[in-house]
Amino acid sequence: MSILPDPIIKAIESLSDLPGIGSRSAERLVFSLLKNNSGLDQKISNNLKNLRRDIKECQTCFHFCEGEQCLICSDSKRDEKVLCVVESPLDLVALEKTSEFRGRYHVLHGVISPLNKVMPGDLRIIQLLERVKKDDKLEEIILATSGSTESDATAMFIAQSLEEFFKGKISRLSRGIPSGGDLDYLDIGTLSRAISERRDF
Ligand SMILES: [Zn+2]
Repeated sequence: MSILPDPIIKAIESLSDLPGIGSRSAERLVFSLLKNNSGLDQKISNNLKNLRRDIKECQTCFHFCEGEQCLICSDSKRDEKVLCVVESPLDLVALEKTSEFRGRYHVLHGVISPLNKVMPGDLRIIQLLERVKKDDKLEEIILATSGSTESDATAMFIAQSLEEFFKGKISRLSRGIPSGGDLDYLDIGTLSRAISERRDF
C-alpha cells in the first residue's frame, strides 16, 4: 500500500503521462504545487482548460490558432511561392525561430507509422494535396520532416503523391539533421543551415 493519499498519487500519475516527465519529476511537481500558496495550481488548471476551449487548428495549414486562421496564414507579407511541410506545430515554431524561412507552412500532425496504427488518412496529407492542387502560385514545397525512418518514409510518400500533379520543385532539409532527431531539439544555427542549404528531394 502506498504511503501517499490517493489524490496525490492520481496527480502524480497524470503528470507522468506527459512526454519527458518521469514519475520522479511528477512527484516533485505535485509536492511543489502543494507547498505553493499563491494559487499557482488554480492558474495552471484554468490555463489548461482554456487550451481545449480556445485553441483550434488553422483551416488552411493546421497549425494551432485562435479563430479560423493562424497568424502566419493571415499574414499577407509571407511568401506565397514556398510551402514548408512539418510534422508538428513544435517544428514550425523551431523553424520560425531561425527567421530563415518566410513562406507558409502545412502541419501534418504526425508521421505515417503502421506500427503505431498511424496511416496517411490520420494525418493532414489529403488536405495538403488538395491545398497544393488549388494553389497556382506555389513554386516550391519543402518537406521539412525530421531524421527518423518513419519521417523519411512519410516524406517519400508525400513526394510521390505530389509528383503526380505538382510541377514545381520539391526539396528537403540539408543533411545535418541528426537521424532520429526532432527539429525542435536542434540549435537555431543548425536548423537555419538545414533550411537555407536545402536540397532537391
Ligand atoms: Zn495557418
